[in-house]
Amino acid sequence: MKILVINAGSSSLKYQLFNMEDTRVMAGGVLERIGEKKGVLTHTISIREREEKIVQKQEIKNHKLAMHLAISMIVDPKHGVINDISQIDAVGHRVVQGGEAFGSATFIDDTVKKAIRSNNPLAPLHNPPNLIGIEVSEELLPGIPNIAIFDTEFHQTMPPKAFLYALPYEFYTKFKVRKYGFHGTSHKYISHQAAQLLKKDIETVNLITIHLGNGCSISAVEKGKCIDTSMGMTPLAGVMMGTRAGDIDPAIIGYLLEQTGMDIKELDRVLNKKSGLKGICGMNDMRDIHDASQKGDPNAALAVDMFCYQIKKYIGAYAAALGKVDAIVFSAGVGENDGLVRAKICNKLSNLGIRIDTKKNLSKQPKPFSLHSPASNVEVWVVPTNEEFQIAKEVKKIMTCSNQNRK
Ligand code: ADP
Repeated sequence: MKILVINAGSSSLKYQLFNMEDTRVMAGGVLERIGEKKGVLTHTISIREREEKIVQKQEIKNHKLAMHLAISMIVDPKHGVINDISQIDAVGHRVVQGGEAFGSATFIDDTVKKAIRSNNPLAPLHNPPNLIGIEVSEELLPGIPNIAIFDTEFHQTMPPKAFLYALPYEFYTKFKVRKYGFHGTSHKYISHQAAQLLKKDIETVNLITIHLGNGCSISAVEKGKCIDTSMGMTPLAGVMMGTRAGDIDPAIIGYLLEQTGMDIKELDRVLNKKSGLKGICGMNDMRDIHDASQKGDPNAALAVDMFCYQIKKYIGAYAAALGKVDAIVFSAGVGENDGLVRAKICNKLSNLGIRIDTKKNLSKQPKPFSLHSPASNVEVWVVPTNEEFQIAKEVKKIMTCSNQNRK
């Protein structure tokens, strides 16, 4: 079964073609700066006998052209990996906000598209480009099933005590104001990987999964099911991130509107793009921040301290929510690569049974790897995330069920 995974963002489109027989990526790529004159297409082929990378600079006017270019590369006689688009069995689309309507992967039809559109106000930056990806795919790949996988799906198992805000209840019933959580495909993928590494059934393990990339989120996973997560109604909540503020006192918003004369749109931009690590030290890439900190920049050191402290507090909170924790799992750009951050987060957590081996943590090792010491009651792992593969897995599952039902 060949599955094309599409992740359409506002100015970029990522794609990967999986051969699910050997679960390998055949080809993939990213189209960046859609809508600008200086677009870039990067296409990588990774089939057994060929490893190739092609970079093309060209104007990519819109998402339709981006998708067209992606498909052309996949079937290209020279750079492609299949002869014809009819060899693609299904297309899996990442959709950021599924609201409460979607608890699992879903075949896309007009009703589903309408439901996704109805969630646009909850994810104005993400859902509209996701929908464009779907519509372009329907047009360019007629007859091939399109399946939506929602970032919010994994978190739909949270109980009301975890997902409700202490606001008038009608804000939830009338306006859908609640915690939805994001990065769900990543948390789901690393939870299942971790269970395998622990040699345990997913339904028997309790985990704290920590996704630290540009966006950061932490989940409490009880017996394979999410019971709480740090992001909220939007991906702005939780711990501070590269450029996002994370949790702040809500009264700050009104106060700053009054004090600065900014309008709400401007302030929203500040909270999303100019806050977090960047807000504190002017940089959002953790590698640059460490460099600056080593050179004596006090705000760079402060930004790392704040980041690690906030994550440490979530570990404490989720350890309390779960009662018993089998493992803590670090993932994504910072979580997978930054031993200094991991060490700072795990420092002084021995009262929770968490002890790491400093040498294991800082040494370069093939991933996944464990970093807990023999004395630790809780295992600590680095597990690389793979959201695209998780999407392909979900698509294969729903396609197989549907094929069996048809027989
Ligand atoms: P995204 O959320 O965009 O998918 P990633 O998971 O790729 O992000 O993470 C990107 C971030 O990872 C970068 O901004 C950078 O801060 C961090 N990062 C990547 N490599 C390293 C590294 N070796 N050490 C520390 N941080 C790293």
